[in-house]
Amino acid sequence: MSMEPTEKGVVIVGSGFAAYQLVRMIRRQDRAVPVTVVTADSGDDYSKPDLSHVFSKQQRASDLVKQSAADFASEQNITLLTHTRVEQILREEKCLVTATRTISYDKLVLATGASPFKLPIEGDGVDHMITLNSLQEYDNAHEQLAKAKKVLVVGAGLVGTEIAMDLLSADRKVILNDRAERLIPGLLPEFVANQLFRSLAAEGCDLALGTELVRVNRMEQGFEVLLANGQSYQVDAVISAAGLVPHKQLAEQAGLKTGRGIIVNKQLLTSDSAIYALGDVAEIEGQVMPFLQPIMLSAGALANTLVGKETSVHMPAMLVKVKTPAYPIQLAGRTAGDDLSWKVDVSGQGMLVQSYDEAGQLAGFITTEQRMPEGFPLLRQLPAVIQGV
Ligand SMILES: Cc1cc2nc3c(=O)[nH]c(=O)nc-3n(C[C@H](O)[C@H](O)[C@H](O)COP(=O)(O)OP(=O)(O)OC[C@H]3O[C@@H](n4cnc5c(N)ncnc54)[C@H](O)[C@@H]3O)c2cc1C
Repeated sequence: MSMEPTEKGVVIVGSGFAAYQLVRMIRRQDRAVPVTVVTADSGDDYSKPDLSHVFSKQQRASDLVKQSAADFASEQNITLLTHTRVEQILREEKCLVTATRTISYDKLVLATGASPFKLPIEGDGVDHMITLNSLQEYDNAHEQLAKAKKVLVVGAGLVGTEIAMDLLSADRKVILNDRAERLIPGLLPEFVANQLFRSLAAEGCDLALGTELVRVNRMEQGFEVLLANGQSYQVDAVISAAGLVPHKQLAEQAGLKTGRGIIVNKQLLTSDSAIYALGDVAEIEGQVMPFLQPIMLSAGALANTLVGKETSVHMPAMLVKVKTPAYPIQLAGRTAGDDLSWKVDVSGQGMLVQSYDEAGQLAGFITTEQRMPEGFPLLRQLPAVIQGV
């Protein structure tokens, strides 16, 4: 192992949206501070949400790349170490350890994202289940998915439901399975989820809800999948979209405080005064927010802090778009929970749903189809997710 304490400055682990947004925001203010990005992947810049519609657009992984790693590094004037996994953080020495070198830092930012949750499933086909949480994962699976005529998607949250609808638009047969009784249960109340269910069913989706996937076996061609209710299917591919787990192992090993993610305060600072965390891996004020807008706001605040202007992140209520073109939905605030009461307005143009908390305050809203514009004035009435100071 060689010691390469080169320039120090800001070192960022990860090259996803969080890391690259932070680089851009730092460089808008400071072209000189040394910035090093260390990433386990190729470092090419792409938009991860585009992975939800690669089938209908017939895209390969390379079509999603917006800028190569090398171009990004030279445009932003950073040192970029690709295909380099950080194995350890030595906090006392303020340096990172990789397989071949150490990298010193003055300030370290962990933007290590999240990994797909591994379901406890049996069978010799489990290792062939596909996840779509990175460009590399899609690239690895592209050939199999391009040929697949029938696909089981396990996990009917936001990502699984979007992928199922996109596969249907690309003329695949789709089974969408979740142990939950309804679609996107973390974000949608039953009466909205039912509308989305009807729209997927009308597109030909086989919805296997309220039962778990228990086994995936390899066959000569494709896979046989078995659900807990006894139903079995033969499919060409199984996509797992069963949720994400923040990639917090590095922080844990280094003794930083972690919960669901790496615990940070409003300045994105961890329990170590030289280490920050950002993106899907961060737990800010008790919340993990795996969406682009909170990451953008966090990156803006952290960039200020790193160039010497300490800034707390302020997060107003934010819109979430459900990318299901046959039944488009937008929502904000709290839109699922037994403590909420509902005001529902249904018309031929879609739904406007407002949720109220026990104190009678507006807590969230959902708009569907052509009624999206009605949400914008409500967005401003919702309480901030995180109040900056
Ligand atoms: C299919 C899909 C659709 C989505 N659609 C939307 C949407 O419509 N709207 C929205 O707001 N959000 C959407 N999201 C969520 C959004 O894309 C993510 O919140 C965001 O991209 C996360 O970025 P990140 O940089 O935190 O993590 P990641 O993109 O996961 O990046 C993590 C980086 O860390 C690196 N890394 C990890 N460990 C190490 C290590 N030890 N050493 C070195 N490098 C390491 C990885 O290689 C990677 O570069 C979607 C997500 C998916 C999967």
